[in-house]
Amino acid sequence: MPHLTIEQLNTAPLSEAVALLDGVYEHSPWIAEQAMAQRPFATLAALKFALAQTLDAGGEDAQLALIRAHPELAGKAMVSNTLTAESTNEQQTAGLTQCTPQEFERIQSLNSAYNARFGFPFIVAVRGPRGLGLSKAQIIATLERRVHGHPEYERAECIRNIHRIAEIRLNDKFGQAPHLGNLVWDWQESLAQHSDSGASARGELTVTYLTEAHQAVAKQLQADMLACGFDQVEIDAVGNVVGIYRAEDANAKTLMTGSHYDTVRNGGKYDGRLGIYAPMACVKTLHAAGQRLPFHFEVIGFAEEEGQRYKATFLGSGAVVGQFNHAWLDQTDADGITMRDAMAQAGLNPKDIPALARNPANYLGFIEVHIEQGPVLNEMHLPLGVVSSINGSIRYVGQINGMASHAGTTPMDRRRDAVAALAEFAVYAEQRAIQDGDSVATIGMLNVPNGSINVVPGQCHFSLDMRAPNDGQRDALASDILSKLDAICTARQVDYQLSETVRASAAPSDPAWQQRWSDAVKAQGLPVFSMPSGAGHDAMKLHEVMPQAMLFVRGENAGISHNPLESTTADDMQLSIDALMHVLTHLSPH
Ligand SMILES: [Zn+2]
Repeated sequence: MPHLTIEQLNTAPLSEAVALLDGVYEHSPWIAEQAMAQRPFATLAALKFALAQTLDAGGEDAQLALIRAHPELAGKAMVSNTLTAESTNEQQTAGLTQCTPQEFERIQSLNSAYNARFGFPFIVAVRGPRGLGLSKAQIIATLERRVHGHPEYERAECIRNIHRIAEIRLNDKFGQAPHLGNLVWDWQESLAQHSDSGASARGELTVTYLTEAHQAVAKQLQADMLACGFDQVEIDAVGNVVGIYRAEDANAKTLMTGSHYDTVRNGGKYDGRLGIYAPMACVKTLHAAGQRLPFHFEVIGFAEEEGQRYKATFLGSGAVVGQFNHAWLDQTDADGITMRDAMAQAGLNPKDIPALARNPANYLGFIEVHIEQGPVLNEMHLPLGVVSSINGSIRYVGQINGMASHAGTTPMDRRRDAVAALAEFAVYAEQRAIQDGDSVATIGMLNVPNGSINVVPGQCHFSLDMRAPNDGQRDALASDILSKLDAICTARQVDYQLSETVRASAAPSDPAWQQRWSDAVKAQGLPVFSMPSGAGHDAMKLHEVMPQAMLFVRGENAGISHNPLESTTADDMQLSIDALMHVLTHLSPH
């Protein structure tokens, strides 16, 4: 059967268009029928988004009905051969039709536990985020994890997986494959083979500054960049992998992009790395077409951002903006190895780091592609988001001092309970941050020193992290939250101490660069959604010397990050590469 085209779908009479999308959503032609009201679709991505929105608008009952229209994985329908053709193909690809009796029994019992708990069948897109098919072991592990999920989370996960199933079915119908997304996916998979020694033995991904694995990652990035056709690729004095794709005009300005290749402990494969490989895919494409850009394109794999091995963070991007504190060299890691020794062992000379500082006058700006690391895009069914600002933050560590006393004999109205004060404060901080809509406040550390089950807490230690998209909003948030702490402590007759540990300015995206990302997102047929970044990124450092803006890519598993479940699909990666390519090819440097 010849592949469907968007033009064909856009121009077909309604009933025919619905028939063309038959089987995309299991036994639910109403979704296609209603979504067709939004024709014409500019792209396949636009069609996918419209279908997802239609299901959202259909409400909870319609969503549950759709979930229940799905067959159980490796269930009775498979055994009795009554699955739809699409489902049969998918379950076959995952090897589910070839289960051993033990595997079959395990899946059956997990399926019934899941169904009993949530009232709907377990759904997973068995072809997975790369489209090649999850293994039986991966499917069973997913079931084992999700059977313990929260009901709301599971309903959303089932819907998300249904849209992923639909995405792959649509790709098949339209004969579209995310070739560059697949390539970037495979690059990241291959890079993830390198992990620090202990973590590697546990099957975890941990790559911290200048370990053996870290150096192997740098070498592989360098080799991959050279294979893409970069003109020059070097590992610099701080460990950054720097690739240049030159303009024809040697005097042209430079556009910088990149992200970090280190990871947190037991982290994900895409945090940072997607922002190195997405531009590499662009250079590979440009080079293959013999095409030069009217500016030099500098792609940097930053050596360190996460601050895992040493207390210093942003070592890679910091060095590029001329910030490297030589006192950091005396810091030691958990094994007592100084940063100085680690650098010497890796063949890096800290004396050369100051020379890495770029002259901003030679630069057009800095852009960064990064996975979102949060749930927002996933919830909105949007593959891409334009970052409006990287949140500013203020952090405190503090303590509340009350009076320790007997838990049995001290009447409630005579207590000076440090934890009760903290609890009242924590609830206020939560409410106050909610009030802004896009501020966040977190008490992430809390402990009662020498606490005892029969003692009213006399003291508690806590941390407080507050973030907002601009400094004014951040300061107002902090001011209200701290005043409330003061009022609560006064009313409860306890004291408190606070010390500020971090005050980082917000990094609002440059309007012109934000606009370029917005145009690029529109060119994919997708609505532009602007959002602040709650997490810090290398772009924050570059922000200090040049205009910057970031593009976020939707994460799977509700956007979880700094976790092995961190993921995104090859299709979403492809869209980010296409958007980046749009920026590169529409940018006039004059
Ligand atoms: Zn990151």
